[in-house]
Amino acid sequence: MSIREIIVAPDPRLKQVSKPVEKVDDELRALMDDMLETMYDAPGIGLAAIQVGVPKRVIVMDLAREGEAPQPRYFVNPEILSSSEDTAVYEEGCLSVPDFYEDVERPAQCRIRYLDYQGEIREEDCDELFATCIQHEMDHLEGVLFIDHLSKLKRSMMLKKLTKAKKLQEKELA
Ligand code: ZN
Repeated sequence: MSIREIIVAPDPRLKQVSKPVEKVDDELRALMDDMLETMYDAPGIGLAAIQVGVPKRVIVMDLAREGEAPQPRYFVNPEILSSSEDTAVYEEGCLSVPDFYEDVERPAQCRIRYLDYQGEIREEDCDELFATCIQHEMDHLEGVLFIDHLSKLKRSMMLKKLTKAKKLQEKELA
């Protein structure tokens, strides 16, 4: 396992639509292991493959609270089968949009289908943080960031700050 570099917005790679996985094999499991380690190291609660530059429909997640045993979860080719009409608002953040947190409104519940770490088909009902997190991560597979759900003004303000921070970092590295 190794820690990979997380891509930070704005970056054209984050706008890519990820491709379906054809087979859950050892190579894909190695990617998922790396993603999980990268996510724990960050630390974060969810990570999509495109955030480490791999345009595949793969997500890892761990919603265990502090002090609880780790609960790593893997979602390959996830699909939303249905979502509720009622919505919930959570303050979201993203490892690709560091240091920004904003309220985002999404369907409060959804039912998903995906392949797990072994390549088995699963269906599951999601609610609360799980529903928000899986929808946030699935947005990444479509090239959408949580800031795309915010007003234009807020989004452009965040992107400006992120661009500035990137330039500063490049200068320091030069
Ligand atoms: Zn994210």
